Amino acid sequence: MTANLAAKDLALTPDLLALPRQSTAEQPTLIGKTREELRTALMSVGVPERQAKMRERQIWAWLYQRGVQDFGAMSNLSKDLRETLAEQFQIGRPEIVTCQVSKDGTRKYLLRIEGGHEVEAVYIPEEDRGTLCVSSQVGCTLTCSFCHTGTQNLVRNLTAAEIVGQIMVCRDDLGEWPEEGGGPSTNKRQLSNIVLMGMGEPLYNFDAVRDAMKIAMDGEGISLSRRRITLSTSGVVPLIARAGEEIGTMLAISLHGTTDGVRDTLVPINKKWNVDTLMQACRDYPKLSNSERITFEYVMLDNINDSDADARRLVKLIEGIPAKINLIPFNPWPGAPYKRSSWSRIEAFAEIVNRAGYASPVRTPRGQDIMAACGQLKSATERARKARPSELS
Ligand code: SAH
Ligand code: SF4
Repeated sequence: MTANLAAKDLALTPDLLALPRQSTAEQPTLIGKTREELRTALMSVGVPERQAKMRERQIWAWLYQRGVQDFGAMSNLSKDLRETLAEQFQIGRPEIVTCQVSKDGTRKYLLRIEGGHEVEAVYIPEEDRGTLCVSSQVGCTLTCSFCHTGTQNLVRNLTAAEIVGQIMVCRDDLGEWPEEGGGPSTNKRQLSNIVLMGMGEPLYNFDAVRDAMKIAMDGEGISLSRRRITLSTSGVVPLIARAGEEIGTMLAISLHGTTDGVRDTLVPINKKWNVDTLMQACRDYPKLSNSERITFEYVMLDNINDSDADARRLVKLIEGIPAKINLIPFNPWPGAPYKRSSWSRIEAFAEIVNRAGYASPVRTPRGQDIMAACGQLKSATERARKARPSELS
């Protein structure tokens, strides 16, 4: 708003040009642009074509290697160029509304994005890694019956800037942008892994997810190996092969049921692409090998999908696919229609899977005290709206 007024005033009263120029949310952001788009943007503000490649590389490194938030800090650019960039563009991140820290060290960020919408990202520190769980949409078009996000309609897709912005916000918060001359190797990084397992179905926001992950993997920037990034899908079959080819990260499939009957209720997209079709897409996934296995996620719901027969069917279904099975104890949320399977049931299920030769780690629920575990995310504005008594009737 202020910026629109300022722009109008500037056109009418040239003496105001002396005022310091500040980035505003109304200016287009350079974050989230592909390298080609960044180059085009630079040329559009007068950077000569012969310099564009070099400038693009310099700015890329400032943005993604050093995490600067101010064009003024880009010391290898001329003062004029820095000023032009500050007038024309911005490099801000989503605003942190709250950062809740669990007693187990998990950090849940509530972020405000353009339009006043809110999304959540969760950082999970472990001994050998630190994983950021990233959202791809505000809400979700799908309605998986055990998932809190699934009770919220899709508000909108996130832009590539907002997806990559979640990584940048987390690195800001962890104080992890390296000083000049390089930083710690990936192994020692606090933020070493990314999972696209926050709010939303990543394959229904394909282009933005692809562009954001390319940025996260770029060797002259955030530089995370593609093996440290996992994209989780509920089973958007026609886009699975394309994800392998164009994004190339590790793949996780939210299976959760071994028969069409059960999966139809838990993951309703199954009515469109059923279990057999999904398993075929997994068999055809480019890059599939013993060192690059597909992870099958399986939420443990009391008396719904957790019998010995289910475990045996699961093993049969994935026969021949290089796979890991990730058993996720159901994480409850207010009003959820399911209960978590008992620990003895989860153990018995895991035992059958293990005996068939598959690793089946049980995912320890993290950040439970702050509702940060898998499937508990939902935009706080939406929660608040629903909770207002006048709207409950
Ligand atoms: N939309 C994508 C990614 C986000 S969900 C997908 O569905 O794959 C990440 C994982 O958490 C999915 O396997 C999802 O099924 C699971 N999940 C959702 N709600 C859950 C809950 N309440 N408890 C445990 N896992 C849940
Ligand atoms: Fe959407 Fe995934 Fe939740 Fe299903 S489990 S509603 S696809 S976020």
